[in-house]
Amino acid sequence: MTDRAALAWNVAAGVVDPEIADLTIADLGILRGTDERDGTVVVTVTPTFSGCPAMTEMRRDLMRRLSGAGLGPVEIRTALSPPWTSDWITAEGRAKLAAAGISPPGPAPDPAPESVPVALVATPRRVACPRCGSGDTAELSHFGATACRSLYRCRACREPFEHMREI
Ligand SMILES: [Zn+2]
Repeated sequence: MTDRAALAWNVAAGVVDPEIADLTIADLGILRGTDERDGTVVVTVTPTFSGCPAMTEMRRDLMRRLSGAGLGPVEIRTALSPPWTSDWITAEGRAKLAAAGISPPGPAPDPAPESVPVALVATPRRVACPRCGSGDTAELSHFGATACRSLYRCRACREPFEHMREI
């Protein structure tokens, strides 16, 4: 990695998810790599899921920060294969989610074989309360504040909380 590509990584890693204040695109595993090709800094990102509204804002912020750091010209490439999985969220990212009161995702389910239709039935999953750690929780709503989170309630401490779904 060139110095410029390494600097680009450090700058890009500071871009945060607008929905969770200090969770960065590096924490989320969205930032895949930085490179320098023919004088252009190439940043590769993988969106969490297609149509995630936060992605547009993160891209704009990425461009602004990199240009602001004098790293232009910059090209942002989107890599869709392999697809993003919640398993890419780093340990630091999971700790930040929990600190924000959001239960981090568990292990992602195995991808369904392409020929078999994906069942839309949610498998019951033990989600631990980010506040007290109790596993005695219930899903209130499959969609929380954002499309990638569900709303839960803890039966032990009675507090509602959000859970980032496994993808
Ligand atoms: Zn609790």
